[in-house]
Amino acid sequence: MTYVITDTCIDVKDKSCLDACPVDCIYEGGRTLYIQPDECINCGLCETVCPVAAIHAEERLPQELQAFLAINREFFEDGVTGWGSPRGADTRYTTDKDHPVVAAWPKRDAV
Ligand code: SF4
Ligand code: SF4
Repeated sequence: MTYVITDTCIDVKDKSCLDACPVDCIYEGGRTLYIQPDECINCGLCETVCPVAAIHAEERLPQELQAFLAINREFFEDGVTGWGSPRGADTRYTTDKDHPVVAAWPKRDAV
């Protein structure tokens, strides 16, 4: 089980969840943040602070957002960053790369 960051974070990325996570398993990409699923301890704190309700527990992930389970996991694999499980986000593990699905996501209209 893990928590999953989904579409409403894209281009918002206010990083409230970074400060909330007790094990620093949320990592910054170019347009969104990603949760390392093997490091997440399922405490749920990140979900409570997200201003755009982007974060869901895996077992409560809506059907239309199921792709984000793989998107979060694959961000850490060789096809994107190749970081694996760094065991703690810091400046060495911050990038402007994104999972290809996120990179291709339509830009949000300016508000
Ligand atoms: S559920 Fe807890 S451990 Fe997992 S990403 Fe959110 S704050 Fe971090
Ligand atoms: S709190 Fe929500 S919007 Fe902010 S960076 Fe985390 S997932 Fe994205």
